[in-house]
Amino acid sequence: MDYQKILFDIYSELKGTDNKGKVASYIPELANINADKFGIHLLTIDGGSYGIGDFNERFSIQSIAKVFSLSLAYKIYDKKLWGRVGVEPSGNPFNSLVQLEYESGVPRNPFINSGALVICDILTDTLKNPKIDVLNFIRKLAGNESINFNYKVAESEKKSGYRNAALINLMKSYGNIKNDVDEVLDFYYHLCSVEMSCNELSQSFMFFANEGVHKNEKILNGSQTKRMNALMQTCGFYDEAGEFSFKVGLPGKSGVGGGIAAVHPGKYTVVSWSPKLNRKGNSYLGMKALEVLTTKTKLSIF
Ligand code: GLN
Repeated sequence: MDYQKILFDIYSELKGTDNKGKVASYIPELANINADKFGIHLLTIDGGSYGIGDFNERFSIQSIAKVFSLSLAYKIYDKKLWGRVGVEPSGNPFNSLVQLEYESGVPRNPFINSGALVICDILTDTLKNPKIDVLNFIRKLAGNESINFNYKVAESEKKSGYRNAALINLMKSYGNIKNDVDEVLDFYYHLCSVEMSCNELSQSFMFFANEGVHKNEKILNGSQTKRMNALMQTCGFYDEAGEFSFKVGLPGKSGVGGGIAAVHPGKYTVVSWSPKLNRKGNSYLGMKALEVLTTKTKLSIF
């Protein structure tokens, strides 16, 4: 398979198209990005590395980071996690409050904001220095020590994070948050502010394609890895998870920085970045690029 040519074709086909998306501005600092950035990187399980466009430029990974925090919590807590957070698609936006009240403060899944906040609470209980420990975990997976938080983005989100504050306080009232809400929010905002390139993200997602193994280290066991992929498949795109399955057919995770990381277990990882988002908060062009990729390669999991 000539992946480089396929990426080139996708890029040429989509670069000039009318991008109907909009850059996220509810976190003011994210609005400063050049909206025309566009990159894709694909890494095969046997090490083939293919990139096009801005694939080496770092961007705000936002909710893609929830996959790393969940992996770390899953590694430590295993099945005990599922008493605090569910594994069902929410069918609601990532920052929705309504369902959380109906369901007594137990988030539907770990990828909506409420669920990710519960995971941050659990890691705050367990880790000595949660921010640094998660950052080091990400650095190890990506093989790059210079990956870091963007403190301006974290601060900007803290200042404008009214909905996240509402979500965490509601969960605290139901007893599903153990630690101080400001401490957990601070951890969450830093986590979301991590900056990585498509290339680095595709490296760091490779263990999901490789039965949980990173280099020679088992990060998650085979069953946990399958379940992480199942969660990405059913919940990774919030109320657009069905659409992503329908059009792309890979487990994956999006972020409001415009990134999408996806996995074909046993075959490859692929990451796209284009900052303009559709109305569900997923990258407009990224969704299209991955749809064309799995169509041209005939490599989706279905
Ligand atoms: N930090 C963002 C928020 O909490 C993450 C949302 C996302 O990427 N979907 O709103």
